[in-house]
Amino acid sequence: MSRPAHPIEPSSDQITKLSSSFSKVPNLTDYAGEYMRFTWRDAWRLLDGLPGEKGYNIAHEAVDRHAAGPKADKVAIRWLGKSGDRREFTYRDLSEATSRFANALINLGVLPGERVFVLMGRLPELYVAVLGALKARCVVSPLFSAFGPEPIATRVEIGDGRVLVTTLGLYRRKVESVRAKLAGLAHVILVGDETFEDAGLHAWSALMETASASFAIAPTDPEDMALLHFTSGTTGRPKGAIHVHGAIAAHHMTGIYALDLHDDDVFWCTADPGWVTGTSYGILAPLTNGVTSVVVEAEFDAQTWYSVLQRERVNVWYTAPTAIRMMMRLGSDVVKSYDLSALRFMASVGEPLNPEAVVWGQEAFGIPFHDNWWQTETGGIMIANFAALPIKPGSMGLPLPGIAAAIVRRLKNGGVDGIDTPMVEGELALRKGWPSMMRGYLNEEERYRKCFVGDWYLTGDLAKRDSDGYFWFVGRADDVIKSAGHLIGPFEVESALMEHPAVAEAAVIGIPDPTVGEVVKAFVALKPGHEPNENLRKELLGHARKRLGPAVSPKQIDFRANLPKTRSGKIMRRLLRARELGLPEGDLSTLESDEK
Ligand code: AMP
Repeated sequence: MSRPAHPIEPSSDQITKLSSSFSKVPNLTDYAGEYMRFTWRDAWRLLDGLPGEKGYNIAHEAVDRHAAGPKADKVAIRWLGKSGDRREFTYRDLSEATSRFANALINLGVLPGERVFVLMGRLPELYVAVLGALKARCVVSPLFSAFGPEPIATRVEIGDGRVLVTTLGLYRRKVESVRAKLAGLAHVILVGDETFEDAGLHAWSALMETASASFAIAPTDPEDMALLHFTSGTTGRPKGAIHVHGAIAAHHMTGIYALDLHDDDVFWCTADPGWVTGTSYGILAPLTNGVTSVVVEAEFDAQTWYSVLQRERVNVWYTAPTAIRMMMRLGSDVVKSYDLSALRFMASVGEPLNPEAVVWGQEAFGIPFHDNWWQTETGGIMIANFAALPIKPGSMGLPLPGIAAAIVRRLKNGGVDGIDTPMVEGELALRKGWPSMMRGYLNEEERYRKCFVGDWYLTGDLAKRDSDGYFWFVGRADDVIKSAGHLIGPFEVESALMEHPAVAEAAVIGIPDPTVGEVVKAFVALKPGHEPNENLRKELLGHARKRLGPAVSPKQIDFRANLPKTRSGKIMRRLLRARELGLPEGDLSTLESDEK
């Protein structure tokens, strides 16, 4: 079981409840009443549906319906480039560009249901590609641009990618070496650099120029697959969580309730679209709610971020604990030197938000950070601290209207038992039935089935609920690692290390880090004839980094003569972690061979 770097037990002084001050009446003022009254059927009424009752398509709800109405000339996306350039796309512009891309895919012979992967930084074309592919009823799968060739190849292969939209630089560095493995990848579309000449590659601009800017979305069933988001488990290869077009109802409602989006808001989600937050809230929720979304191409830098908040008059800001902790290090005086008077609501997601960070928000910005919880599989925010409710620093908050959450204990007979006693730890479970719940792991029925007991989806997170109904994160029930908000599967890292000729066995764990939550640490046993030394350590670090990319590769490697294993031969990462951190070693009855 992995515990967060910052244990967040509520102590009496931490339960100082913080309340926001409102410059606008929050959308959700009567939580209890709304929770009782809410039905997803009512929520669907806030969407339009395709003209002629031809179903629901995410791109219609997010773009075309606004382009056809009074918001046509409103800025949908304001893009701020790394070198100071700035481009604005109205809902009409976005509708035309996404229509062009949908037509471009069809001109290439790409069919509905086929998978379009996107691999690039936060460039405007990424947003056009995602929404255009959804219009063409293709399935979009975003990849993180800091992945190395291995994670990219694995995901494109599992997802049966037919199209990849990327840049020439990323293609050369990360895809070219693995392309031969990807037999189904018929088209690579390159954004930005038009000077290449290779066969099998298309220039984005050439495809877009010849494609028509008008496109009528074909009938789309809300249960049609729309997005494939990869996530990791303790064992096995990455899992492709399937999301459907109807998920947009949840993106819409959670934008209203948990992010408190109002019609004239300027919204900024700092997450990379290579991960689920960057898609659900960096693209879809703000657009379906018709607000203006700021997209910042540059990577994190505290002062740059404050300037963006000030200059763009951002009203609602959705960010993550690692960034908040980095900002905290610079102190609150820096924040106060900016005019952030437009900022009304701040939220955070992705990893435990330590109580001090919530309180620091209040001190530095005059408003607290509102922590919320969800995961790739849930597709949207499930538990949140709301604008109008008191915040308990360190708590993830209360379930959204339409979401039933519980703390459960797994039983030996395969069932679960609800835990009603306050502050008793168990697994966080959600009752199925909300629109953005994953519909499966691609081609992995058994892994998907195991997530459910009866009507309940078991999240793999350990948590507690207090007597006011607030949920408190405890840790993961499995061995996945959360580093800078990115979920890392130990198996993927171990497999890359094992490809090195000197490595006999590898085990990977997360160790606490005050800034990024956890960092990846590997333990390696060498094959006979190889001696542990500093050069080999560096070589292995470099090998892993080259294959996996900086976001996933281990930061530390220790050599061991043997790794602790169970009788069935499974490496006991839990034990390695306990020893590394000086924690109790727990039940060792299945331990067969030991490292010592
Ligand atoms: P991902 O699927 O990559 O979005 O990761 C989801 C996991 O991140 C959850 O299952 C949690 O373990 C963790 N997580 C997300 N939000 C929070 C939060 N607010 N507090 C603590 N952990 C979180």
